[in-house]
Amino acid sequence: CGIVGYIGTQAASDILLAGLQKLEYRGYDSAGIATVLEGEIHCVRAKGKLHNLQEKLEGIENPAQLGIGHTRWATHGKPEEYNAHPHMDTAHRLAVVQNGIIENYRELREGLIARGHTFRSETDTEVIPHLIAELLEKLKAEPSSMPALAQHSPLLEAVRQAVNHLEGAFAIAVISADFPDELIVARQQAPLSIGFGQGEFFCASDTPALVPHTRAVLTLENGELARLTPLGVEVYSFGGDRLRKTPRTLNWNP
Ligand code: GLU
Repeated sequence: CGIVGYIGTQAASDILLAGLQKLEYRGYDSAGIATVLEGEIHCVRAKGKLHNLQEKLEGIENPAQLGIGHTRWATHGKPEEYNAHPHMDTAHRLAVVQNGIIENYRELREGLIARGHTFRSETDTEVIPHLIAELLEKLKAEPSSMPALAQHSPLLEAVRQAVNHLEGAFAIAVISADFPDELIVARQQAPLSIGFGQGEFFCASDTPALVPHTRAVLTLENGELARLTPLGVEVYSFGGDRLRKTPRTLNWNP
């Protein structure tokens, strides 16, 4: 599939749709975007080609400056709107898009349901927002024992812990209504690149979605996650070590 993300000063939904258009060849089953606006997640999804999502979004003014998007190539669950990404946690505070397959989703899902989470799709992906939400709750409940990374960013630490529970090949992008200045991305055996702008940052499965905005690109390696804010990009290993990384300049004639 194709995933995109934006954080910055422009209207995210336009940038996400334009990015998805460049990635549409990666999946035709459904498309969707989620943005963070005024403390809420706004999620719009449509079955079928990107065109159907564009029609749904037509005429809707959305000034949100943070968002994620997805075109799906279904692996787990029918190509229906209820299986379209982004997927959310029970309380609708987190939204996640994913490329790839979570091999151990069944056992994760059973455990999460037993602990009170409500699932709304058949996908492997949906375990991710629920797992992150649960880990965030745990961090909040024990602020005194918070690891240093969680004091810097609880969302980053919760995503870091979550990806360590996941088996399979995946690239994900995560936003939260409670952290309106953060976009977290992670990569394990599926492509993910970050584009560097001026006070704005982009992520995408593939660089053609980035080049209309910037030529400064950092491609994540397996086992790396990154925190994008309007101020910059921080890269970490899944173990929690900060990694020094600089973008390269793409030579590209669009
Ligand atoms: N496994 C996920 C799903 O079936 C993601 C598939 C994809 O990469 O589009 O929804």
